[in-house]
Amino acid sequence: MSSLDIPGLDALKAEVCALHAELLRWGLVAWTSGNVSARVPGHELMVIKPSGVSYDDLTPDKMIVADLDGNLVEGTLSPSSDTAAHAYVYRNMPEVGGVVHTHSPYATAWSAVAQPIPCAITAMGDEFGDDIPVGPFALIGDDSIGQGIVSTLKGHRSPAVLMRQHGVFTIGKNAKAAVKAAVMCEDVARTVHLARQLGPVARLDQADIDKLYDRYQNVYGQQAAQQPIEPQGVEA
Ligand SMILES: [Zn+2]
Repeated sequence: MSSLDIPGLDALKAEVCALHAELLRWGLVAWTSGNVSARVPGHELMVIKPSGVSYDDLTPDKMIVADLDGNLVEGTLSPSSDTAAHAYVYRNMPEVGGVVHTHSPYATAWSAVAQPIPCAITAMGDEFGDDIPVGPFALIGDDSIGQGIVSTLKGHRSPAVLMRQHGVFTIGKNAKAAVKAAVMCEDVARTVHLARQLGPVARLDQADIDKLYDRYQNVYGQQAAQQPIEPQGVEA
């Protein structure tokens, strides 16, 4: 039980803990290299993974509560080394309720060659509404990763950014939506990569991308985002 008097905080810790199993289930992480966080609604706080703990050993009570400057508020373990980047996103994008970071292999391969993933299939039009952009190269240790995420995604439809020669950060209105974006980013990164082995890949017409994005976000997106988290996973 949390010692902080915040209704729903224990449930949020359990949700963020369970979402880490999705990173494994969808093949987005090796060892302990990915993390999920969630904003604590109504508070200047977030829940995030502890650093270096195996996904099998994660439990809700091991989850960290940090403030939006990345300082530890509750928890006995050290927060994820990516906490500063997550905190920067929450400070600068008030609409964001969840952040995910992975080094998922296909998407990270695109980041390694600093190429945006072209919006070449309808699934990308639906979820991303554009190419998946490349963000700047930045080293861990200060706000530069967070600044790169925010400067790339602010005003962009895509909830995913390929941080150059590093990996993927995704955002969402809640943690589950950010995990979904991370799963979809890897899926389309793989598909468009495979397509390029077969021949040239053409971006969809912008008018078609606009139609796909509008329909998906207004018909499917809001319904999906309003569903409560299910511990067994993301719906099909
Ligand atoms: Zn990383």
